[in-house]
Amino acid sequence: MIDLETPVSSLTMVGPTYSNRLKKLNIYTIKDLLYHLPFRYDDFSHVCKIAAVIPGITVTIVAKVVKFENVYTKTHKRIQKVTVADETGSIEVIWYNQPFLASLIRPGMLISLAGKVDWFGRKLVLISPVYETPRPNNAHPDTNSRQANLVHTGRLVGIYRETYGVSSKWLRSRIDALFRKIDVRLHEYLPRKILEKYALMDRDTAVRLVHFPANPEEAVAARQRLAFDELFELHLLSRIRKRSWEKRKSVFSFKKPEAVKKLIPFTEKLPFTLTNAQKRAVRDILSDLKGTHPMNRLLEGDVGSGKTVVAAIGMYFTFLHGYKSALMAPTEILANQHYATIDAMLSPFGVKVGLFTSSHKSAGREKLDVYIGTHALLTDLPQSNKLALVVIDEQQRFGVEQRSKLRSKSQYAHTLTMTATPIPRTIALTLYADLDLSVIDEMPTGREQVKTWVVPSEKREAAYEWIKKQITATVPYSQVFIVCPLIDPSDNLDDVKAVKKEYEYLQSKIFPEFTVGMLHGKLADTKKKIMIDDFRNGKADILLSTPVVEVGIDIPRATIMVIEGGERFGLAQLHQLRGRVGRGDRKSFCLIFTGSTDENSVNRLKLLEKYFSGPKLAEMDLKLRGPGDMYGTRQHGQLDLKIADLSDMPLLRKAKESADLIFESDPDMLDFPLLRELKQEYKMKQVLPD
Ligand code: ADP
Ligand code: MG
Repeated sequence: MIDLETPVSSLTMVGPTYSNRLKKLNIYTIKDLLYHLPFRYDDFSHVCKIAAVIPGITVTIVAKVVKFENVYTKTHKRIQKVTVADETGSIEVIWYNQPFLASLIRPGMLISLAGKVDWFGRKLVLISPVYETPRPNNAHPDTNSRQANLVHTGRLVGIYRETYGVSSKWLRSRIDALFRKIDVRLHEYLPRKILEKYALMDRDTAVRLVHFPANPEEAVAARQRLAFDELFELHLLSRIRKRSWEKRKSVFSFKKPEAVKKLIPFTEKLPFTLTNAQKRAVRDILSDLKGTHPMNRLLEGDVGSGKTVVAAIGMYFTFLHGYKSALMAPTEILANQHYATIDAMLSPFGVKVGLFTSSHKSAGREKLDVYIGTHALLTDLPQSNKLALVVIDEQQRFGVEQRSKLRSKSQYAHTLTMTATPIPRTIALTLYADLDLSVIDEMPTGREQVKTWVVPSEKREAAYEWIKKQITATVPYSQVFIVCPLIDPSDNLDDVKAVKKEYEYLQSKIFPEFTVGMLHGKLADTKKKIMIDDFRNGKADILLSTPVVEVGIDIPRATIMVIEGGERFGLAQLHQLRGRVGRGDRKSFCLIFTGSTDENSVNRLKLLEKYFSGPKLAEMDLKLRGPGDMYGTRQHGQLDLKIADLSDMPLLRKAKESADLIFESDPDMLDFPLLRELKQEYKMKQVLPD
């Protein structure tokens, strides 16, 4: 019996080779395949007789094959030339270099072809069309009713995310076969009432129509329903999570009156005064720690807004009550940096801080008070009932399992997650409805705005000259980040700068008098550390890097950020990159190189010259480009949003209302067996706690 959880390998024509390839698309089960949704459709629905074709217009022609020829052109290319005819006339069809077609296309057979007709010399020709053999329909073996069976032509055709050896056509065939031959059904989990209230299509129909819509309206309605489901599940999950969280009692006592007093000399010893926003966040955290439920708080603040010190105060407060805390960072570089800053802040007050990464493990781990590290902490952190506070930095970069594994180290620990990803409040309330939110919406004073320019190609040389002067204008020298989108040069992205290639060029041709360092994800961790240390110590003047530097590194002497291929980044991401400079008291600059001459694209980048607030830029980008991945939802780790658009506020509201309606009337979902099943599924995936 085949059901939704059956591995794809059990389908016909999906052997081990294909099921391996499909893994790259995250397709393991039948359900995954069904939920591999088209991201757009090609419109081949204009079916037309040969006599009626118009050059330049995309059409589908259903006709008989009259002749098949393999021919060589003057330039020794092989082309496949096919003549097809219907009752109105005949037309030539050409494919380039597809000799295998000879075994598929034989004279006398019926074929359906979709593509554009164009002039080829003085003839109208169909060039490289999509083709298929219409499936015979036993009841009506005539030509016309066969059209109803078309999968790849003669209709709206879904285009899918592909991978090596897996084309949209292949995926479409498999999904079509699945619908035709196997009776897998998606059962409706929403009550009739809700379907009617919001005019939603049922799930099973939606999944069928999203792959094979009869018209654009059907595609929209189907997508709407599936998007609704994603948002609905997201919201329902966060309500379930919140409820189970609230049932927990805090097992730690944070009631020592002298602890609060001891925070005063600590903050006084900091080299700066906390901003009001930081103070507010600290107050939120302390009151959570003292509360009767474990804390579950998200600390959101723009890059450079000073989240680390807020976390450090929480950790010190935890220490003052005799408990331990842990901070997990997404990269080794960041973990090292956190260790350096937090150890400097806390060790003068008797706190023992340790670092745990794949290349470094502090000694005496049982005796430490504060554990800082990468995901290495998941194995290195000793099990302890004293672990009272868990901090997760840049939380969107961790997977669900990693986060829940860290939590399971101390089931009852207070949890603080931190992010620099600007999330509009409405969206936060859905995505993170189970979290309490503290926002640091104020930058430390004295921080000057990073002067930003968008630099067109013709000014590149001048910009390099300016950078050289700028480096030596101060003592000690100023330092420069240069960020390239790629590590290795790519064949199909010819003009996109890649770190490895650019490194040679910059070091030998542009900046021979300076030392250029190189940092990217493929370097070994130890090598990365050396690179960062060299840059921090001033051994390198310029650090050439992929966007990994985006994540929180703090180099006070770096005053220039150069970003290559600016048009390839979201505004919020560019803003985060720019946040890597301007951390000391020197005037700082950001140069965004772009090869794009497209006016819209340049104007979009120019917003960075005028605006300096992450949330504001994210919002503007949302309007200009759509939501994309700017909220890190793809790495959100709780749900992989495939189709829902988080900026669709009306749908977000409907989904929330529906989830609330069900949850409030029936929190254990006794009347909703399918939702209970869903809950169970999420528990297995560790999205929900047990
Ligand atoms: P992020 O929120 O991006 O993680 P960090 O915590 O790394 O920011 O802080 C960025 C820099 O700002 C650090 O060098 C830190 O010492 C400094 N900083 C933090 N708070 C303040 C403040 N209130 N005034 C001045 N500088 C501050
Ligand atoms: Mg940070």
